[in-house]
Amino acid sequence: MIIGLDDTDSKESMCTTYLAAVLIEKLKEYGRINDYPLLIRLNPNIIYKTRGNAALAISLEPRRNKDIEAIKELVIETVRKMAVFSSENTNPGVVFIEDSSEKMKAELAEFSMRAVRDVLEIQEAVEILRRHNISHKGFKNGRGLIGALAASGFALCGLPDFTYELIAYREKERWGTLRDINEESVYAADAATRPDTWDTVDYENKRVVFAPHSPDPILFGIRGNSENAVRRAFSMIKSEPVEMYVVYKTNQNTDLHLIPAKINEVLDNRSYILKGKVKSAPKIIVGGHVIFELKDNSAVIECAAFEPTKGFRRIIRELRPQDDVTVFGSVKDKTLNIEKININDLNIHELRNPICCGKRMKSAGKGQGYRCEKCGSVKKEQALEILERKISQGFYEVPPCARRHLSKPLIRYQ
Ligand SMILES: [Zn+2]
Repeated sequence: MIIGLDDTDSKESMCTTYLAAVLIEKLKEYGRINDYPLLIRLNPNIIYKTRGNAALAISLEPRRNKDIEAIKELVIETVRKMAVFSSENTNPGVVFIEDSSEKMKAELAEFSMRAVRDVLEIQEAVEILRRHNISHKGFKNGRGLIGALAASGFALCGLPDFTYELIAYREKERWGTLRDINEESVYAADAATRPDTWDTVDYENKRVVFAPHSPDPILFGIRGNSENAVRRAFSMIKSEPVEMYVVYKTNQNTDLHLIPAKINEVLDNRSYILKGKVKSAPKIIVGGHVIFELKDNSAVIECAAFEPTKGFRRIIRELRPQDDVTVFGSVKDKTLNIEKININDLNIHELRNPICCGKRMKSAGKGQGYRCEKCGSVKKEQALEILERKISQGFYEVPPCARRHLSKPLIRYQ
């Protein structure tokens, strides 16, 4: 059976992955866990999200069929005990898939993708659950049923692309205290396992980025392209005691949230891949954000590299009108927040006043051409010159400290 879980945490505490880790330990008494537990990141722009918008699915092979009701009871009781019911935005959902038809699989595959890319209503999840007679339990307003069903759907139908994350959890008495992690060992683990792991440290900003700063149960998470790689990095890290750890299979760092589109198709709270030309020169606005306009043959949209993207803004600032680029990112308030950019072609041409006698000629008045101040000669047209650019063609991305969970890092393209 597949067990899906979502929305048990709050901004301040808990974490749905920890609840899943505790549950996995308890479920082992009832049977075998198949494959890896799935950690699914849903649409990152959903306004109701608690923190990382993560949902979980566990695939369990029960030893005895007569235990199924007891398993469901155990899951529901664990959520009842551990979820943060006091938080207004915490609305847990639990889903149990016991068997499936081809029709149900097809419907779930579509629903799961939409949960990552689109904005769904609770009612849509409830309708599928009822239509296919899927047993479930929604708490409070039941919003968590969306993620619980979506994660179950991926467990049933598979993920088009996936990575791994090893999450280590803290001993309970340390929750809320400063994390004790030996930074040197983290840099060494990263150096030894790169490029098979990533986003452990941010070299450019000289920061360890794999540990949260919130008072939740997570000590740190190691991301990588195989179980072997994340385990190897884990074995090198020196830290406070690890209470337990789980290796998840996940849609993190896969770009699964991105929809290729034309600018006039763009909607708020979705994420896109847009190709076009820079329309206006980048501007630096209050707060240090860099903004430019992108146009294609359908419309124009504002694109932004916000302050937390740090050094990435230096690249964006160097763009010029007519540069041909592909941008990747989420759209909020009609502005695309750039996660990555591919500079396809740089506009290296510039019309300038012609040079004569070693100096730029001056405009002789509207429609009068250009005149040399020294020798008096006149030229009708400006000259097309080649401009030195400070950036080159190719892919650029935000640094690890600003990376969003779903965003595929360039290291995965190699
Ligand atoms: Zn001259």
